[in-house]
Amino acid sequence: RITVVGSINMDVSARTPSLPAPGETVAGTELVLGRGGKGANQAVAAARAGGDVRFVGAVGDDAFAPELRASLQADGIDTDTLRTTPGASGVAVVTVDDAAENTIVVVAGANDSLSELGADDVAAIEGADVLLLQLEIPVPTVVAAAEAARRGATTVFLNPSPVRPVPDALLDVVDVLVVNESEHRALGDAVERAPHVVTTLGARGARHRGPDGVVTEVPAPRVQAIDTTGAGDAFTGALAVAWRDGPVAAVRRAVVGGALATTRAGIAAPTAAEIDHAAQDFA
Ligand code: ADP
Repeated sequence: RITVVGSINMDVSARTPSLPAPGETVAGTELVLGRGGKGANQAVAAARAGGDVRFVGAVGDDAFAPELRASLQADGIDTDTLRTTPGASGVAVVTVDDAAENTIVVVAGANDSLSELGADDVAAIEGADVLLLQLEIPVPTVVAAAEAARRGATTVFLNPSPVRPVPDALLDVVDVLVVNESEHRALGDAVERAPHVVTTLGARGARHRGPDGVVTEVPAPRVQAIDTTGAGDAFTGALAVAWRDGPVAAVRRAVVGGALATTRAGIAAPTAAEIDHAAQDFA
């Protein structure tokens, strides 16, 4: 069982030949709505990779909220601990031009209202094998969730994204830190506080450093990458599900999950069957 405590957004993306300058209006050619937010994306990735997933988070009471809730349920995620708060859901307003240059405005909305955990949330954390955390909700809530996990026997995964200061109090209760190379650099020596550090290396795969200090590099399968959006989230979801098989086995599976996500447009985490199939091909 995996519990995710994190963000959920509606991504509203407009395509336009060229991005508007301040004060300018341009015609768009396409509008795409899609569920986003690192918490929701990692929850979906874990569910597709075969996990039994619960989501602790918040949506607003606007028109996006029912769609966001349904998008989690469509992947079999338990949303009993997804609360509805007055006001707007989290929204990312994205513009993309023909040169693939973009602008993004993220309005945290309901994600920012997640300032404390209820009894049901704590029960969902304590009853899980794995707790998956990111930094798109208030940091004190992330710390409280990690501490609740420690009181149970729940393994705490933290993907410290977006990059922002991480309190030592949080790093000290993390079991597995999952970082890309820029997050690794931003944290510096602080990564050493975590018993396990998994660093994703893009097309080069990933690296695991365990409590014994042993470092294992796992190459990524060679694929035709067309869109790396969501690769890190697909990696993290697959890693969390496979962790029970041991860290290195889990990283081997996660690199396949991450690589498959890059072969599809948008946020598209693979299923367990797709990962199984690809893992055989790449073996
Ligand atoms: P992020 O997207 O968070 O910056 P990375 O770029 O390190 O993270 O990618 C995460 C994982 O996705 C990698 O560890 C790898 O498994 C997979 N991946 C990303 N880019 C490629 C690629 N070009 N080819 C194969 N696998 C990739």
